[in-house]
Amino acid sequence: MSNFFPPNNHGWIETITGCMFSGKTEELIRQVRRAHLAKKKFKIYKPALDQRYAKDLIVSHSQQKLTSTTVENPQDILKCLDSQPDLVAIDEVQFFSEEIISVCEVLASSGVRVIVAGLDTDWMGRPFHPVPQLLAISELVHKLYAICGVCGQFATRTQRLVSSNKNILLGSGEIYQARCREHFELQQPTHQSLGEIHNAQPAEV
Ligand SMILES: [Zn+2]
Repeated sequence: MSNFFPPNNHGWIETITGCMFSGKTEELIRQVRRAHLAKKKFKIYKPALDQRYAKDLIVSHSQQKLTSTTVENPQDILKCLDSQPDLVAIDEVQFFSEEIISVCEVLASSGVRVIVAGLDTDWMGRPFHPVPQLLAISELVHKLYAICGVCGQFATRTQRLVSSNKNILLGSGEIYQARCREHFELQQPTHQSLGEIHNAQPAEV
C-alpha cells in the first residue's frame, strides 16, 4: 500500500479495487481499524444484495469482520451525516446503482473520508460500473492483486468456474478463481443469457 498523508482535513474519496480474492475487504477493514485507533467516528455500509457471509457484517475471505449497516438505496447512506462521521466505508460497491457516485461526492464534500471497495471488472473482464467512475473521481486509488489459480503470478481477473446465465451469481472459492491475463478464459454467454446481460444492472459477478 502506498503511504498517503492527506494534505488537509477536508473530505476525500479512496477506492480499493481489484479482482476477487485480492484482499479488498481486508484492506477496508484495516483502514477502518486504524481510524478507530485514531478515535475517529466511522460508519460501514454494504448493499443488501451481498449476504454471502452474514447480514450486518462485512467479512473478508480471511474471516476478518466488522459490523456494518445493510442498505438497499445508496441515498440511505447519507442519513449517517446526522452523526457527523469522520470516515464512511462502503464494501462491495459494485452492487450499488450509479447513484452511489453522487452519494460519495456529497459525503466527501461534507468533510468525510470516504473509502469504497469493489470489483473493477466483471466475470467477462468488462469494467464493472459504477467502479470505473468512482476510480475517476477518487483522490486515492489502491489497486490490489490476487494470485492466479493456474500459474501463481499476479492475478487481475475473476474467472467464473461454473456456467450460469444468472445476472448476478454470488459466491466465493467454489464458483470463482483469480486469474492472470494469460489464464483468464472468457466465457461466452449463451444467446439467451446475452439478452439478460444487456438488460442487467448491475453486471454479473
Ligand atoms: Zn496465470
